[in-house]
Amino acid sequence: TINLDCNASTPLDPRVRETLLQHLGAAFGNPSSVGHSYGMRARHSVELAREQVAHVVAAEPTDVIFTSGATESNNLALGGLAEFGRQSNKRHILTTAIEHKSVLGPLSALHGDDFDVELLPVGPNGRLDPQMVMRHLRDETLVVSVMGANNETGVRQPVAELAELLADRDCFFHVDAAQSFGKDLEALRHPGIDLISATAHKIYGPQGVGALIARGLADKRVPLTPVLHGGGQEGGLRPGTQPTALIAAFGKAAALAVEEADARNAVCAQFRLRLLDVLSLSGLRPRINGDLRHVQPHVLNVTIPHLDADLAVALLTSQVAVSTGAACTHNTSGPSHVLEAMGRAPADLASTLRFSWCRETPEPNWDWLVSTLREAVCEPVEVEVRRGR
Ligand code: PLP
Repeated sequence: TINLDCNASTPLDPRVRETLLQHLGAAFGNPSSVGHSYGMRARHSVELAREQVAHVVAAEPTDVIFTSGATESNNLALGGLAEFGRQSNKRHILTTAIEHKSVLGPLSALHGDDFDVELLPVGPNGRLDPQMVMRHLRDETLVVSVMGANNETGVRQPVAELAELLADRDCFFHVDAAQSFGKDLEALRHPGIDLISATAHKIYGPQGVGALIARGLADKRVPLTPVLHGGGQEGGLRPGTQPTALIAAFGKAAALAVEEADARNAVCAQFRLRLLDVLSLSGLRPRINGDLRHVQPHVLNVTIPHLDADLAVALLTSQVAVSTGAACTHNTSGPSHVLEAMGRAPADLASTLRFSWCRETPEPNWDWLVSTLREAVCEPVEVEVRRGR
């Protein structure tokens, strides 16, 4: 089965697997046990990974806090600023209606806890208008949180532009970069982005490891307090023994991403051209969700009139894995809040597929793909009502 659901998770790069396996074998020491060689070896690997991860976004190694993934990083970024917000009477938070649940969830908890959380809409093109953020900013705004790229549509948000606009404002700027870390390199290097959430499993790394990068952490520029309590690991901000092998593998994946980002993006863009071609010649009248000039090259979110998207996923699954949206909302199901926020009609929400691929995704049998999609199109039946005489 060809995986066209890479936004959910990417396959493990063999070079990353090598690093992972090496560390699972010999480097089993605890990186905090620096009194002997086992611990020192593990510590060395964790510190190398810290440099590699920091380098992706032009941060300092001391800015990196290793976590279990972007969900935890988002919780630490937003929950970790709350104490400062309370003390300094900054209880307003700005975000967008299209954020991932791991941002909306902790923010909704803060909302119930005396914080005023404002969700900004996006345009029909899936993009936030940076000027709208500026219009809603207040003196008591604690943090602005905007994702780097949307997981359902692939639409890049104007985070570098926002970082520029927010530079002389007295609030923090957090970017959930789960989908853009290691892919959209330039945007995330802007020094005005204070906090960046990253994860390994979207860049050919393993699941279960990620980072929160807090610029100027060592100089206390970002006043975070821990959300978990325990030992002093990760500067006391993320207690618990670091998973050395996962962290080393994340570091390797990050280093490869920096080296290969341009080449990967170019290969992915070729695949998209082909998919766009196929869909536009199919007669299925596809409508792309998101302004293609801002969509990442490995994603295409498409609404096909009268398509039963769940049926399409089921019919396609023997050869092609696709999804109707975000994997992580499947348990909670319901229509996509992202497409809703873009103003799509309810009927469109059930007729939408997300295709996402990666650098080495082979081309599927396009004719088969199109004819299978056609099978899942259920044209409305015109019922003729005859009146009795
Ligand atoms: N944020 C976004 C935009 C995502 O797409 C994801 C994962 O799909 C996450 C956060 C959560 O990342 P993780 O699986 O590392 O917790």
